[in-house]
Amino acid sequence: MNDILSGFKRVDLCHQPTALEEMPRLTKALGGPNLWIKRDDCTGLATGGNKTRKLEFLMAAALDAGADMVVTQGAVQSNHVRQTAAAACKLGLDCYALLERRVPDKGADYEQTGNILFDHMFNTQIEFRGPGLDMNAEALAVTDRLRGEGRNPYFIPGGGSNEIGALGYVSTAQELLQQCAALDLAPKLVVLATGSAGTHAGLVAGFHAMGCDIPILGISVRQPEAVQIENVYKLAVKTAAQLTDKPLSRDKVIVDDGYVGAGYGIPTETMIAATNMLARSEGILLDPVYSGKGMAGLIGQIKTGQITCEGDVIFLHTGGAVSLFAYEDQFSTLHAAN
Ligand SMILES: *Cc1c(COP(=O)(O)O)cnc(C)c1O
Repeated sequence: MNDILSGFKRVDLCHQPTALEEMPRLTKALGGPNLWIKRDDCTGLATGGNKTRKLEFLMAAALDAGADMVVTQGAVQSNHVRQTAAAACKLGLDCYALLERRVPDKGADYEQTGNILFDHMFNTQIEFRGPGLDMNAEALAVTDRLRGEGRNPYFIPGGGSNEIGALGYVSTAQELLQQCAALDLAPKLVVLATGSAGTHAGLVAGFHAMGCDIPILGISVRQPEAVQIENVYKLAVKTAAQLTDKPLSRDKVIVDDGYVGAGYGIPTETMIAATNMLARSEGILLDPVYSGKGMAGLIGQIKTGQITCEGDVIFLHTGGAVSLFAYEDQFSTLHAAN
């Protein structure tokens, strides 16, 4: 397979290829289909996760622009901010992050443990914001302010989700197809958690550019279905336009918003059950905000028969287990019955 990414600037941050592993005990517990897991939780940078792939392209763009710092934003327990801060350290840049107090009713620990602990270890400069603002606009305003103070900041949008960052998931699309070819595997579906849309859009764009028809199901962690489809589709079109002239049809973007629960970062029963099930059947840690809800969607769709029991299905593990420490009350031994 020729490398469709060879023309793009990229820095090396990621342990790759990440493993594609079978989940025989989970498969058995659910009665099929054959479940596989693509371990993008193991990308290596500061406990890993999906943002590392995007940062290979975003950080290359920052260095190319002669930046001395990156500015980005996320929720308080943002995995994206943690990985961006680590990448900045590795490349000798400063990192400035705006953290949105997006999740209601969290205790004091929530702003001290998990991802934010690591942000501090990476010497990230942090400003907090209340919920509901246009956080990219806030971060752009801070970028301008820092430029006025004589810095050369490079703005990275929330989740690293623009057409540069999404190239990271074109790389996963390529890698996955190579791994499937080597295993003689023809999966009928790929499932992932979808949030700021870059991961989903990059995968869709990558499969499209390579002429691969395997459907991709995004389990929304925040937005209603119609909004998420629009967000992913728009970004997938922009991402694909860098790779191919073939038009991308909207029906390539599939989203299920039935597993969000009360909102972003708010635990659901199905997320807790799915997270505990993965831990106890496969020894794999998911997270409460993204991959746990993604897996709840996969398990839920198998239980309802929307995903049938034949064939092979791949779950893309996007990482995030660091934030389990900010949700200890949901997973302590008091909840062992779940
Ligand atoms: C950011 C994130 C996602 C969602 O990826 P997007 O590109 O924002 O849609 C999924 N899982 C984890 C653990 C994440 O940190």
